[in-house]
Amino acid sequence: MAAIAIELKLECRYCGNPVPLNALSPSILCYHCLTVITISKSSWKEILGEICKRVLDENDDRLTITGNVIPFYVEGNVCVRLYGREEPRTLKRKPIPMRQALASLNENLFTLEEETVFIRLIPKEYSSFLRSATHLVGEDDTQIHKNQKSELKNPTSSDLVVFTCPACGGALKIDGAKRILECNYCKTNVYIPDALWFRFHPSKLTRRWYLWFGESYSGAV
Ligand SMILES: [Zn+2]
Ligand SMILES: [Zn+2]
Repeated sequence: MAAIAIELKLECRYCGNPVPLNALSPSILCYHCLTVITISKSSWKEILGEICKRVLDENDDRLTITGNVIPFYVEGNVCVRLYGREEPRTLKRKPIPMRQALASLNENLFTLEEETVFIRLIPKEYSSFLRSATHLVGEDDTQIHKNQKSELKNPTSSDLVVFTCPACGGALKIDGAKRILECNYCKTNVYIPDALWFRFHPSKLTRRWYLWFGESYSGAV
């Protein structure tokens, strides 16, 4: 075995909505309430160090949620965790030829039949509890940047959308930069509903990413 597949999802403690953890990042933005959730090194150690221990030492390699999910807390947020042995694949589930990928990485990106895969070395600060893993494969790199809130200042859609104020019926222009707007007419604070908000900020889904141990790794079988 040369890789461990991981899927992680938090339930935001502030708004209760799902927040996928698609990257080994010190902070993740909740797109629903715009809270930045900090994930300390010791929390990552708890999440991933334990996965390594279970898969490598105890041969526990499940990849489905069983009927009995024990609540697991990360920084006060409920966390759902799936993991197991699996060779790295793309989002479309195509096997990633890792030797070729590592040899032809271009700014951490590898392209396989129009799909782009983000691959990076394990950051030093996390290596102590990730055993001999060498790379992270398939992370969502937009979750790695320190200031994810800056994404909000550059809405993904350039179109302004007109929305009707629920209090006075006035027309509000929405550009996706703020979740709560003050109506120009009646001064009511209007909370932008999910359906509209996610046109600007497409909801992130939980994606599978990988700890890669190298082809020659001969750990527990
Ligand atoms: Zn939230
Ligand atoms: Zn109004």
